[in-house]
Amino acid sequence: MPTCKHCGHQWGWKETIVQLFAFKRKLKCNGCQTKQYISVKSRNRLSIVGILISLIFVPFISFGVPLRYIITSEILIYIFYIGCIPFLIKLSNQEEVLW
Ligand SMILES: [Zn+2]
Repeated sequence: MPTCKHCGHQWGWKETIVQLFAFKRKLKCNGCQTKQYISVKSRNRLSIVGILISLIFVPFISFGVPLRYIITSEILIYIFYIGCIPFLIKLSNQEEVLW
C-alpha cells in the first residue's frame, strides 16, 4: 500500500483507488492534505504489467481459443490488475520526470 512520503500515513486500498480514478497527476494525502505523486518506478512498473496483460491474448489466438473467452478473461485480468494497483505503487513528494 502506498505510504505518504510527507507524514507517513498509509493509504487504504479504497482511498488509493478513489484517488487513481480521479485521473489527476497529483494525489492528495488524507492524513496531511499534501500533494503526493506516483513515483516513476511505480508508473513504469504499472505500464509494463499493463502491456504484458494486453499481450496475453496473443498465444490464446494462436491456440484457436474463441474470441469471447479471450475478451472475457482480459476484462477479468484487468479488473484484478486494477485491484492490485494499490499494492504496486509508491508515492513521492515531487513530481518525477520519466526521463
Ligand atoms: Zn500525508
